[in-house]
Amino acid sequence: MIVNNSLDEVKKRENALSIIKNIVETKGREHLFDLTGLSGGFIASPSELNLLETYVGPAIFEDALQEVGLEHMGGEKVLPLNRTSSGILATILALVKKDTNVVHYLAELPAHPSIPRSCRLVGANYSETDIFEEFSIPENTSLVVITGSTMDHKVIDEDEFKQVIEMAHEKDIPVMVDDASGARLRTVVFNQAKACDLGADIAITSTDKLMPGPRGGLMAGRRDLIDEIKIKVNQFGLEAQPPLVLAMLNGIKNFKEDNLKKSLQRKDELFDLLNSYFTNFKKTPTGVMISPEDLAKEIDFPHKLSDDDLAFVFSFILLKDYGIITIPAVGMPGASATLRFDLSTSDAFNLDLNDLTKKIESSFERLLEVIPNEEKCREIVF
Ligand SMILES: *Cc1c(COP(=O)(O)O)cnc(C)c1O
Repeated sequence: MIVNNSLDEVKKRENALSIIKNIVETKGREHLFDLTGLSGGFIASPSELNLLETYVGPAIFEDALQEVGLEHMGGEKVLPLNRTSSGILATILALVKKDTNVVHYLAELPAHPSIPRSCRLVGANYSETDIFEEFSIPENTSLVVITGSTMDHKVIDEDEFKQVIEMAHEKDIPVMVDDASGARLRTVVFNQAKACDLGADIAITSTDKLMPGPRGGLMAGRRDLIDEIKIKVNQFGLEAQPPLVLAMLNGIKNFKEDNLKKSLQRKDELFDLLNSYFTNFKKTPTGVMISPEDLAKEIDFPHKLSDDDLAFVFSFILLKDYGIITIPAVGMPGASATLRFDLSTSDAFNLDLNDLTKKIESSFERLLEVIPNEEKCREIVF
């Protein structure tokens, strides 16, 4: 195994960032292709930047965000956070007591790690399932969690979504929706309703997923709960700082549903091209992906690497040789090792799909070459 623990993941990520820096400095930003679907945009005008002071910034931008955020998310009040994970942590700190149960329904395991980790922190009993028939809410449950769209963009069925909310509300238990990408994917691509409109008490989205915003979290929901959660948010420094709030505001304003819909059509083309070479790529709503397990199936000789390690090495080859950025190289510890090639953000709009396919194929050839040499693989990742 090459990547064994969170420390390895931190080191791997540092290496990926230094490769990115090197490409920007030696060749230029135009030689990087961020296909993560997380664009991390920062749209701001000079006059807005001048207002970014500790107290003036929030006075202006947080107020504006209330209006724009409510339109995007629904609910009674919004709360900007440092990350989606921060919002999940704050909600669990505020609403979940030690020894109570937290139950989670999602379309496909695994859940985002911030959910079980936060539960462990407060000493709650956490359970999750992706089998609707097996989902139930036991006595002594303090919070029901629903994931709208998973890390791999698997989207929940809207009827099941409604039923889980109903089951929770029958018992007066609040529902938190992890709608990191779902707030846009579910609504725009799958024509589903906003989580708050479906009855969610709290919904959190990530402002750099499938929209031109910065990495940050935007929470929306019931005013009384948001106020309670906001206390924890401020106590533990989980809130979004003024620059983030400004960029979130402009990211939402510049979110175009059409870009998301266009990527939907192009992904079929990319999928077909890749299919003439690979057998295990799958479609996502906005691109294609190959999971570590499926990647391993593409390799027909024995070797010592774990499935995740294969994904990490592949991701690093794509980055180093072609400037193609995918999550396994740059992701935070615990992030999915699935390689997603997302066509919904700006770097992908002008990309020639034949050319992209050739780059993915030759990176894979290179992966096959280095697999037998574990030392070389380690060097590539670290
Ligand atoms: C990305 C994601 C998160 C976490 O977002 P961060 O910005 O990394 O905190 C949580 N849940 C799901 C389903 C996600 O896709």
